[in-house]
Amino acid sequence: MTETMQAAVWTGVDAVDVRVVERPKPTAGEVLVRVEHVGICGTDLAIVHGVHPRARAGLIPGHEIVGVVAATTPDGPPVGARVVAEPLITCGACRACRTGSSHVCRNLGLYGIDAPGGLADYVALPAEVLHVVPDHVTALEAVLVEPLAVAVHAVDMASLNAGDTVAVFGGGPIGVLVAMVARQAGAGTIVIAEPNEWRRKVAADLGFVAVDGADALREAVLDVTSGEGADLTFDAAGHPSITTALAEVTRVLGRIVIVAVHKKPAELDLRAVCFKEQSLVGVRVYTHQDVRRAVDLLAGDLDVSGLPVASYPLSAVEEAVQAAADGGGALKVLVTPGGAA
Ligand SMILES: [Zn+2]
Ligand SMILES: [Zn+2]
Repeated sequence: MTETMQAAVWTGVDAVDVRVVERPKPTAGEVLVRVEHVGICGTDLAIVHGVHPRARAGLIPGHEIVGVVAATTPDGPPVGARVVAEPLITCGACRACRTGSSHVCRNLGLYGIDAPGGLADYVALPAEVLHVVPDHVTALEAVLVEPLAVAVHAVDMASLNAGDTVAVFGGGPIGVLVAMVARQAGAGTIVIAEPNEWRRKVAADLGFVAVDGADALREAVLDVTSGEGADLTFDAAGHPSITTALAEVTRVLGRIVIVAVHKKPAELDLRAVCFKEQSLVGVRVYTHQDVRRAVDLLAGDLDVSGLPVASYPLSAVEEAVQAAADGGGALKVLVTPGGAA
């Protein structure tokens, strides 16, 4: 008898169908995970809105996955263990893969785009993409591992020094997590620019300086640096309206880290980059070590309890997508298959 499950299937522009499908049967080396929560991010919105270049109708999206092992494989995590996915699919053959940087694989794919994702009761994933989470880390915390790994990678690539003044464009989940990781790493004043008032309040409640717009960010940064500018600037907004300000708010010999994925080429003040001899760094997803570190941070003393989350049942996946697109009321929107709290 075939076993079935509920899954959210993307069927076309702004159409997600929750239906009964066959439960995945793990092949050799795969683990069956009963999904607890799935985080919804900008990539998922792009898929649902039909603007993700690789997504094909019929896909089960969802790559920010936490769940419990339901069936395992030799060398896999034990049944009952809580695991998070490192959802990258790499080719193993390109130069990046061969030289230990498979996170920038030329053929990089993602579970939830190029293979079935976690918006379902169950997902089958290779044992090697699963990280076991310690018992005292809850599913609600663990679901943040994937976006937190993005922040860990960005801060790692920023070569942050203790006391650095940090500017962050964008107070969404990635911007706030970048700020939290930077603070944990010893940053001094952290200023976040965010147009949404509710998100500014969340950032302020978390202890960051939260301002509206590039001008206000520049003023705040110049104020605390005697007119020098930020040591480090993160673009976690990905919006063309702020890119010309990136070099401006950053000090001479400062560093600019592009975390957000821009939808199209944006204007940069490259003269300022030259004159101020700044470093401009692109970052893509995270390494295996970044994911491990994100788990360790959550297991340690990184407190994410101040991040407002909202959870929707799988049947309300379209409402969840809408809530994530609206960006107010919850910093992170989750879908919770199976009705687990
Ligand atoms: Zn994502
Ligand atoms: Zn590769």
